[in-house]
Amino acid sequence: MELGLKNKVALVLASSQGLGKSVARVLAGEGARVIICGRNEETLGATAEEICNATGAEVLPIQCDLSVADERESLVGSALEKWGRIDILVTNTGGPPPGQFEEFDLDDWEAVFNQLFLSAADVIRRVLPGMKENGGGRILTITSVAVKQPVDNLMTSNAIRAGILGFMKSLSNEVAADGITVNNIMPGFTLTERLKQLVEKNPDFGKVEDTIPMGRFGTPEEFAAAAVFLVSEPAGYITGVSLPVDGGWIKGT
Ligand code: NAD
Repeated sequence: MELGLKNKVALVLASSQGLGKSVARVLAGEGARVIICGRNEETLGATAEEICNATGAEVLPIQCDLSVADERESLVGSALEKWGRIDILVTNTGGPPPGQFEEFDLDDWEAVFNQLFLSAADVIRRVLPGMKENGGGRILTITSVAVKQPVDNLMTSNAIRAGILGFMKSLSNEVAADGITVNNIMPGFTLTERLKQLVEKNPDFGKVEDTIPMGRFGTPEEFAAAAVFLVSEPAGYITGVSLPVDGGWIKGT
């Protein structure tokens, strides 16, 4: 199947490693021009080089702390300056600290709201007018299975990521007639470097695999395959959906 991604411009947030990197890599492999971002300039440069060498695609690395409004503004500005358009936007960021309700004060809640919700909503706000002008686009938010089924000891993530779902669904209706699709993808336990480290540090974490019907963690490549389809041309009639890629972990329908 032709995914229609050649020469499309894709901005993938938080993509120096993990799920974001994997999505950027597959998009580049399909011929898209990709903008990647992260906080650490060295890691980001190495990732850009790796993707470029593996795919031959043009990759633009932009250093950005997505929790800082000014940096989000200059990220989108630099991306538009380079290629004049953004056809595909994938929102993503790092995970918030674990903990239960009574461990968080008001400042913590504000910080996580900024980190998880505003980092996505603000970049979407800045990219949307260009997509409308160009007659279409693809927006994909990355959240977590936690939005459907809370994960123990991840209070702030469970609460705030669910808000992204309401936002994404509302926005999908508002911009559908402009040819812009807005979808969400809910990763389950996926074997990124971060999860590998968690498993190494805490052998009990391996027991999580027993809670997954498929009996194993997912791979970043499996995640990216689903994400890239949702931002492809053939997925043009799919909007407002939230897709789990979780090996069956979510218990509800
Ligand atoms: P990761 O830690 O491997 O990668 C996170 C990426 O985000 C890195 O590139 C990091 O540099 C970047 N980042 C973090 N904070 C940033 C900031 N303020 N500004 C810019 N970049 C920033 O994590 P991952 O496993 O790839 O997960 C990605 C997201 O998906 C996280 O929010 C995570 O909580 C969520 N998630 C992951 C899993 C999983 O099993 N991997 C499951 C459910 C949800």
